Amino acid sequence: MRIVLLGAPGAGKGTQCKSLVSRYGLLHLSSGDILRQERSEGTELGKKAQRYMDSGALVPDEIIIEMMAKAIDNAPAAGFILDGFPRTVNQAVALDKALDESGQTIDAVLNLEVDDGIIEKRMTGRRSCPQCGAVYHIENMKPKTEGVCDHDGTELIQRPDDNPKVVAKRLETYHRQTEPLVDYYKKQGIVHDFDANDEAEVVASSIFDALDTLST
Ligand code: AMP
Repeated sequence: MRIVLLGAPGAGKGTQCKSLVSRYGLLHLSSGDILRQERSEGTELGKKAQRYMDSGALVPDEIIIEMMAKAIDNAPAAGFILDGFPRTVNQAVALDKALDESGQTIDAVLNLEVDDGIIEKRMTGRRSCPQCGAVYHIENMKPKTEGVCDHDGTELIQRPDDNPKVVAKRLETYHRQTEPLVDYYKKQGIVHDFDANDEAEVVASSIFDALDTLST
């Protein structure tokens, strides 16, 4: 199965990916995670991406397309789930072209729909562990000890791009540059819409129903 997960930042894409990976054995390819990894390793790519990421803008298409094409090439036969890529129509066209060259297509696009107000609350309250990547929320998913990671005791941080000003910019970027992708994929007849204002488990169960039907 080759799946694209669409939704604004904070729509719960990362959480849903974890459930999909454990149920279907897909490789989770998150463009944001790959970029953050490149940054923490101090690579050229990471340095180039830094200022775009910290301001809530998109990293230029050519950088992302090359980076994700490499990641997809190494995916196992079970397939992959793309999280955060494509984010522009230009990236989607490049992805279709690259897959087409190896006789592949995207099987399903899962579109997570969430109100902007809920997203703002989710993202500005998010805290993460710089050591192991675990994610918490100051209201709904508190660590056992305030401000400290349950797994390794590291002090939790707020990602620079989760501060309120940058969140507003990321949402604006999403509506302007990424939302048109829904129509792009609707023309291919492969979009499944989900109300992602609900609890993560409820959303996961609807996604499983859709994908189980698709794979039988
Ligand atoms: P994410 O964790 O997916 O929200 O991504 C964090 C940041 O990485 C975004 O705000 C962008 O600056 C950058 N980024 C991630 N994926 C892409 C993409 N497909 N195209 C352009 N920029 C991206």
